[in-house]
Amino acid sequence: MNSKRVNNGAEQRFILVFETGEEVIAGLSAFALEHKLDAASFTAIGAFHDARLGFFDWQTKEYQPIPITEQVEVLSLLGNVALDRGKPMVHAHVVLGKADGSAHGGHLLEAHVRPTLEVTLVESPAALIRRFDRETGLALIDLDASASARSNASVSDKMN
Ligand code: ZN
Repeated sequence: MNSKRVNNGAEQRFILVFETGEEVIAGLSAFALEHKLDAASFTAIGAFHDARLGFFDWQTKEYQPIPITEQVEVLSLLGNVALDRGKPMVHAHVVLGKADGSAHGGHLLEAHVRPTLEVTLVESPAALIRRFDRETGLALIDLDASASARSNASVSDKMN
């Protein structure tokens, strides 16, 4: 994966280009860790050799797997990065197009790129904190915790 930091005033914008064979969630997670991203959003287009999507089952609180075992266009990939127990967590949803024009979509669990995936990632000025939610069994964005993280961040910014 190649990346380039593009200056855009207060917010940091990155362009990431994945190559054939690279796995998207692992690549984005490694990038978020390396660049200490605590809050970001991203969009992408490109194509996958294969993918594993998930549909969140409300009863079992688990993702029902949706395997995609053919070459598909990435029509739309949207996601964010937030802190979960201090580590950046990548959350992405995707709509994929098959050769017959039909679309399949879901929560992106895993995908292998072929031949490219072009990601635009924007780092948010304020940190987004995720907390484990007992009812859903999911790590959801906690805006209250995020607000205090932001004020702590601005204090430490002033100290720097
Ligand atoms: Zn999801």
